[in-house]
Amino acid sequence: MSFASQTKKELTGTVGKKCCKRAELSALIRLNGSLNGPPNRLVLDVTTENAAIARRIYTLLKEVSGVPAEVLVRKKMRLKKNNIYMVRVSRGAAAVLEGLGIGWDGAGLRSEVPDALLQQDCCRRAYMRGAFLAAGSVNNPEGSSYHLEITFHDLPHCRGFLRLMEGYDLGGRVIERKKGYVVYLKEGEKIVEFLNLIGAHQALLRFEDVRILKGMRNQVNRLVNCETANLNKTIQAAVRQIENIRLLERTIGLENLPPKLREVAELRLRHPEINLQELGAMLGGGVTKSGVNHRLRKLDEWARRVRESRS
Ligand SMILES: [Zn+2]
Repeated sequence: MSFASQTKKELTGTVGKKCCKRAELSALIRLNGSLNGPPNRLVLDVTTENAAIARRIYTLLKEVSGVPAEVLVRKKMRLKKNNIYMVRVSRGAAAVLEGLGIGWDGAGLRSEVPDALLQQDCCRRAYMRGAFLAAGSVNNPEGSSYHLEITFHDLPHCRGFLRLMEGYDLGGRVIERKKGYVVYLKEGEKIVEFLNLIGAHQALLRFEDVRILKGMRNQVNRLVNCETANLNKTIQAAVRQIENIRLLERTIGLENLPPKLREVAELRLRHPEINLQELGAMLGGGVTKSGVNHRLRKLDEWARRVRESRS
């Protein structure tokens, strides 16, 4: 089951107050509903490919509107083999829509976000939950990018929803696609906040687990890169030191260097890979890191003078 399906499954199990049920149902019908039949015998069909959501719509309709509904199942023959579930209200459809703040005309359901139903925080969250259940999707956080989106049929409804989200500082963006107007979130933090608001707490925890793990992985990678950079510097320094020592060996001979410099030069040639601390430990009597550094710089200085005298 995809992360999105799991999230939706969890959401269809949430319990709410009657006011919230009305708000959630309003969003579900506004986004997944369609009107059929003549004006005096309107039939409302609410369609979904998700059985749990169909059950949710059916239950909410019964609890909120008290109208009889039926559930029809159709097999989608081509494309995917998913069933299509249709919750149908054949009697009292107009009253149901009015009660949910949904308007309509000859072209279908038309209305903005029903502000009158969303006076309370709990109901605004429920409306967002209904919209996500009806037309939302969220990427698996393990994937390459974080993404949550909800598709709206028309711009006014989409704008109204965006305003609703802005009330929670979610800062969604809109993009127009073939299927409609898509509100989306890209930031992991905002997606977590949205999941929290609509009551998808299990999904939220899974999302956060992955996000923390990813953050840790990035941090480890950064550290590794940092160590490699330091290592490279050490290697570069050793290479330069050895070049200088070889030059001194060829020109004046290591035996003609002061004894302390000769000792460190010979050790460096034999152990090009070790760091200054290790080098210091191998020197007679033990020399500190800065002591070794001092001697190596002296060697550099000798080499520089040799180069200057030759040019
Ligand atoms: Zn409420």
